[in-house]
Amino acid sequence: MALTKKGEFWYGTTSGDTQAELRSYSVANGYEAVRYASSKCNCGCRTFALQTDEEAGVAIRICTDCGQKHLMGDSADYIEEAAPEAHECVCENEVFELMSGVSVYEGTHDARWYYIACHCVECNLVGVFADWKCEAGDAAAFLAKV
Ligand SMILES: [Zn+2]
Ligand SMILES: [Zn+2]
Repeated sequence: MALTKKGEFWYGTTSGDTQAELRSYSVANGYEAVRYASSKCNCGCRTFALQTDEEAGVAIRICTDCGQKHLMGDSADYIEEAAPEAHECVCENEVFELMSGVSVYEGTHDARWYYIACHCVECNLVGVFADWKCEAGDAAAFLAKV
C-alpha cells in the first residue's frame, strides 16, 4: 500500500491509504486524528454517495446498493439547520468508500475535530472532503455511528 501523487491530488487503493491521507490532513490541520472507522451500510455495502454541510456539522451517506440514507455521527442533532450538498470527485464520479477520523482533547476520549475522507471507486483519488470542529463527546460512540 502506498499513496501516489498526480498533480495536486493523492491516489491510493486500500483503506490504509485513505487513513494515511486523513491522518496527514489532520496533522496539517493541527488536530491529529487518533481514532478511525470506515463506513459500512446495514446491508453490508461499503460504497456511498456523500452529502455534507460543514457549517452545520452534518454528513449524510447514501448507500449505493440499498439506498438507505444514514446521518453520520451526531449529524441528526444538526440536520434541521443544514443544507447538505453532494460531493463529486474530480473525475465526476459520486461514489466513494468513506473513512472517518476524529481527534480528541488531550488526556480524554472526547471528540474534538471530525474528518471524513473519501476514496473514489472510479479513479482511486483519496482525500478529506469535509471536516469540522466536533463536540460529540465519546469518540468511540461517535465513530460507531459513521
Ligand atoms: Zn445499503
Ligand atoms: Zn474519481
